[in-house]
Amino acid sequence: EVDVPEDHPRYQSLVTRHRIEDGVEKGITSTQGLIAEGRGEAFDYLLGEETIPSADRAARAAAAHFLLAEHPVISVNGNVAALVPEEVVALAGATGADIEVNLFGRTAERVQAIADHLREHGATEVKGLTADARIPGLSHERAKVDADGIYDADVVLVPLEDGDRAEALGEMGKTEIVIDLNPLSRSARTAAVPIVDNILRALPNVTRHARDLAGSSREELEAIVAEFDRDAALEAAERRLREGALADGE
Ligand code: ATP
Ligand code: MG
Repeated sequence: EVDVPEDHPRYQSLVTRHRIEDGVEKGITSTQGLIAEGRGEAFDYLLGEETIPSADRAARAAAAHFLLAEHPVISVNGNVAALVPEEVVALAGATGADIEVNLFGRTAERVQAIADHLREHGATEVKGLTADARIPGLSHERAKVDADGIYDADVVLVPLEDGDRAEALGEMGKTEIVIDLNPLSRSARTAAVPIVDNILRALPNVTRHARDLAGSSREELEAIVAEFDRDAALEAAERRLREGALADGE
């Protein structure tokens, strides 16, 4: 990784940019991914670059969903692979979730490069290379998923997903957990659990909650899921964006 002085006030954001740049160079991240990164940074800046309390509650609800799920799957795209490969593997380990590469602009080369990259960071099994099932309601290339992966999942974590596909997955009856810094995006708005937070913070936070909840009963986990209010979480995030930390009371 490039040398960024740790005392630089924008250290985290600079490291993040370099990871995305590296991702593009390695053929993991698309040039569209660069644009998504820029959008994300703007929202993170407005959020104060911290995990707001409502996002932490969402992360806990997400962890409870994962632990209750029969077949949870973490969907990985080019930005996710470039930014948090080890964290994806850690979350899968803590929850028994599958990892599946799932791309908006799918090419066989990119899927392979991402799968290799995840294996280099400790993943044992990576799905998404077979692509033998389709999400109904989407055009051919964008609909491809693995029959024994996302197609079969009851709970899917789709970080930084495009709104269309998030909607189509929701219509398949899956419980969708979305990580997206933009609370106004359709992806966040269709999710059962929208986590409005930077994936760099959100993913390890879900893992931390999953480890913390590992000994909980189904009843306890179900209570956490039932208590979570998605509309309130989106509203709290939007308030933070518009009014800042002092005004939102969080
Ligand atoms: P819509 O959901 O309204 O259809 P979109 O999906 O077309 O919008 P994209 O630019 O494709 O918009 O989506 C990228 C999303 O990912 C943006 O909402 C952006 O804020 C978010 N994002 C980018 N980087 C991160 C990150 N590091 N952590 C969390 N979210 C991020
Ligand atoms: Mg979106």
